Amino acid sequence: MIQIDGLHKAYGTLEVLKGVSLSAPRGHVISLIGSSGSGKSTLLRCCNLLEDSQQGDILFKGEPLTWKGTGHDRRPSDPAQVLRIRTNLSMVFQQFNLWAHMTILQNVMEAPLTVLRRDRAEVETAARGYLEKVGIGDKCDVYPAQLSGGQQQRAAIARALCMEPEALLFDEPTSALDPELEQEVVKVIKDLAAEGRTMIIVTHDMKLAADVSDHVIFLHQGLIEEQGPPDILFSAPRSERLRGFLSATL
Ligand code: ATP
Ligand code: MG
Repeated sequence: MIQIDGLHKAYGTLEVLKGVSLSAPRGHVISLIGSSGSGKSTLLRCCNLLEDSQQGDILFKGEPLTWKGTGHDRRPSDPAQVLRIRTNLSMVFQQFNLWAHMTILQNVMEAPLTVLRRDRAEVETAARGYLEKVGIGDKCDVYPAQLSGGQQQRAAIARALCMEPEALLFDEPTSALDPELEQEVVKVIKDLAAEGRTMIIVTHDMKLAADVSDHVIFLHQGLIEEQGPPDILFSAPRSERLRGFLSATL
């Protein structure tokens, strides 16, 4: 579904990704773990083209992204392709980023209406369904400030789902939440994984990574230090750095 080959990304002279490759086939859950500053969010943002990159390929459903220019001048060359990728890879952020002046239902309906120009009645039915699915079907008409953090994050997940994307990208979806609210969101993510959705999840929650992932990638200073299936990676880490990271997080 999504494939990254040898991606390099720098902010000015700061090299953040130094040749990273990953593949998220349809129906697979990939988790990205690693220390603060290792490049996890940057890699996720490169996947849905929120960030430019200087070198390497990005493929969506086998179709390579086309570029113009090179290095720091490199940009995607086909706006239709960019839109296709962005609308098919929905992102859920750490800070839920809901519109404060819109009700929860309006928040969920906004992008399908304005970006995809879908029919309002159909979008409303779908939006109510997704809010039901994440367990806040009764919160359609309230504003974000009236919800708990866990409810707001579930609304953000419903909003991402309402785009009916091919894959979901999560950037630390539970790290702004208290432990008990975190579990509400973890449950929703587990349900989505069980449905066979394609997801890439940046997380500090090793239990979540172990429970839902088909494949875990440990990033260290912009390179993949180690990767593999969670049962092997967590029980028998080979690299000293991963061992150190895991012992510090558990
Ligand atoms: P965390 O666990 O703290 O979220 P991360 O692994 O997600 O960390 P990134 O946010 O990808 O790390 O950042 C990687 C590096 O890139 C860091 O050194 C960071 O300071 C730098 N960086 C990130 N965004 C920018 C930016 N917009 N401009 C300049 N440098 C940036
Ligand atoms: Mg981050």
